[in-house]
This record gives sequence, C-alpha cells and structure tokens, in this order.
Amino acid sequence: MRDKGHWTRDKLQEQQQWQYLDVTLRKSDLNHDDIVYLLGLQGAEKTRLFEYSSGVKEKNVGNKVYFRGLIEFSNVCLKNCLYCGIRRGNVLVNRYNLHMDEILAAARFAFENNYGSLVLQSGELETGNFVRQVEKILREIHRISGGKLRITLSCGEQEKDTYRRWHDSGAHRYLLRIESSNPELYRKLHPQDGLHSYQRRLDCLYSLQNTGYQVGTGVMIGLPFQTLHDLAGDLLFMKQFDIDMVGMGPYLEHEHTPLYAFRDQLLPVEERLQLTLKMIAVLRMLLKDINIAATTALQAIDKLGREKAIQVGANVIMPNITPGRYRDDYLLYQNKPCTDENPEDCMSCLNARIALTNNEIAYGEWGDSEHFRKKGTRDKGRGTSQP
Ligand code: SAH
Ligand code: SF4
Repeated sequence: MRDKGHWTRDKLQEQQQWQYLDVTLRKSDLNHDDIVYLLGLQGAEKTRLFEYSSGVKEKNVGNKVYFRGLIEFSNVCLKNCLYCGIRRGNVLVNRYNLHMDEILAAARFAFENNYGSLVLQSGELETGNFVRQVEKILREIHRISGGKLRITLSCGEQEKDTYRRWHDSGAHRYLLRIESSNPELYRKLHPQDGLHSYQRRLDCLYSLQNTGYQVGTGVMIGLPFQTLHDLAGDLLFMKQFDIDMVGMGPYLEHEHTPLYAFRDQLLPVEERLQLTLKMIAVLRMLLKDINIAATTALQAIDKLGREKAIQVGANVIMPNITPGRYRDDYLLYQNKPCTDENPEDCMSCLNARIALTNNEIAYGEWGDSEHFRKKGTRDKGRGTSQP
C-alpha cells in the first residue's frame, strides 16, 4: 500500500502535468518540441487538446462546413509513388478517363445541390493533350454553372505555364501534398527514377503560390519510417509556407504497392486515426483561419472519422461525386468507403452526419480560405463574386 506522502506527490505531479498542458495550449507560438509533446498526448489530456482546438476553430472560422464535390476524372498516372494504388506500375488497375459529359453531369449535380465548389482530381500527366483537356473541362464547367462553382484542381506537378493556363481557365485553388516535408522520408516514399524529386514538388508549390492560387498541401500520417518529429516538421512547414488549405489523412496500405512490404511497421489503424485528429487539432492552433479538409481516408478507418475531424478543427468535406462505376478503379488505398454509392446517397448520409456534430453545412457558399483572403493575394481568376 502506498503512503500518504506518495499520494500527495502523485497528485502534485498530475497537477503540474495539467498546468504544463494548459500553458502549452495557450502559447501563441508553438515550437517543434511543443508540437511533438501535443502529438504524443493520450487519454484525458488528448481530450483537452481537442476541446481547445475546437474552440480555436469556432472562434476563427465558425462552425460552417463547406462542401467540395470530388470528381476523380482520370486514374491514368505517369508517376510511381510507392504508396499509391493507382501508380503506373500497378498493372491490375483498369485505367479510365471520364467523358466530358460525365464530368459535366457530376458538376451539374454539385451545382444543383448547392455545393459551392468542386475538386477535380486525377493521376499525373504532363502531356500537351492532358493540359488542354483540363483547360477544356474548366471552361465547360464555368460555362454550365455561370462561373458560380469554385474549382480546385489536384493534378500533381506541372510546369508553371500550365498552372497559369489552368488558373486563367477558371481554377482558383490547387491541392498538392508535400507528402512529407522531410526530404529523406520523401525519398523513401518515392522511386529514384528522375520523376519524383522533393525539390520539384517544392518548386511547384511556390509556382502555384506565385500564380495566385489558394494553395493547399498535406501529408500522409502513420507512414512507415515516419516519426512524431517528422510530423511536427510537417506542421511547421505548412506554417512557414503560409499555406491556405490543408488536406491530410492517415496512410492506408494497398496490397499492390511496394510500401505494402512494410505493413508490419505500421501503427494500428485506430492509432493512425487518433494521430491524424491530433495533427488536425494542432494545425488549427498553428494556422487558425485556413481551410482544413476532413479527408475520405479518415472515413475508411472509422465511419465517423470525418465528423471527428470536423469536431477537432476541420471545416471542409469532399463528398465523392465521381460516377459510381469508376470508383473501384480509383483506389489510392484499399477499403476506400462508399465506392458503391451514388452521389444522392452520399449526400443524404452526409447531411445527417454533419448534423450530429455542432456544425452546419454552408450550402451555396464558396468557402474560400479566410487566410488567403486576409493575405490579400491577387486572385485574377474568373468570377469574383459570391454565388
Ligand atoms: N496525382 C495527384 C492527385 C491524386 S493522389 C497527386 O499525387 O497529387 C492524391 C493524394 O492521395 C496524394 O497526394 C496522397 O497523399 C494520397 N494517397 C495516395 N496513396 C495513399 C495511400 N495509400 N493512403 C493514403 N493516402 C494516399
Ligand atoms: Fe500518381 Fe498521385 Fe498516386 Fe503518385 S499519388 S502515383 S502522382 S495518383
């Protein structure tokens, strides 16, 4: 049995721990060590972090959730990222390009259902044909929606001129994940074939920023070889880069990828989920007014994964509106949720889910990044007024 002295010492220690946490949470400038400490929190302390970040979110961006209808318009990819199910080397994938009328039907669905924005995502190609095709898609969507749908592109690394052309054709936001801000880890996740350079990715992010896009980046969480120090570095990278939007989610293994060989080294999926939520919470504290997506990969682990992310700091959801018959061919990772659902199912399900959190869906609003707006960066794109 422990004596009274022990009991007092334990109590004191506990009190000091809580004090330390509260002081850290209130710091205006979290440093690397603070972030590593916060990412390591468990139990009631972790809950305190989540409550705190939820307050930061409410105070800075309110409780609105913005929808971006996600159209995965092509799975043809020239890259061979070691983690990705649609990498060039996976010969088991049926490759597809959506027809223009399929893309426009999905865009019309988003428009008629009052989604403020679309995300057009694909594998990565840098051919003239691909560049022109994306331009055409952007102009057609602009035409059928009267410029009222905000468009985000996520088509990988491109030349500066291509980014400029797409921006001129109506894309205002671009998502390009850094995947890992540690160049050494980046190298372990990509083949050394001259097509996957960390420096090029950085250069692309700078090009996007200089072109006038709202720029989004992100990382995968729970990768083999990744440490809490890497993740803290990722968050500080986003802050230092002064990013406008972030989409980050758990890494999920895919059987037909080289990284699958390291699956034994992974955290259990529930821990990957919790770590992702902590990353979102700390990011919200670091960059209070950016847009943060609750990614689909979260939902693959936990049916309520995205809602949990909304509660701790995220404010964007990307319902998948790709025509159902293509969904099984766009598996970046396995167990991707809702691949057999149509957009209408997806939507009624989401309405109910968001109502469960204390948030509301901002129908018909673009939901541009507040952070970007405040920076006052020029935005030369089409359609400058709210629909
Ligand atoms: N080709 C484009 C867009 C499609 S991939 C690009 O690479 O930017 C979009 C994102 O999916 C990638 O940035 C990566 O972070 C994520 N992704 C790929 N494979 C994944 C996996 N196995 N688990 C979790 N996310 C993955
Ligand atoms: Fe291609 Fe993107 Fe997958 Fe890399 S992550 S293989 S670029 S689709």
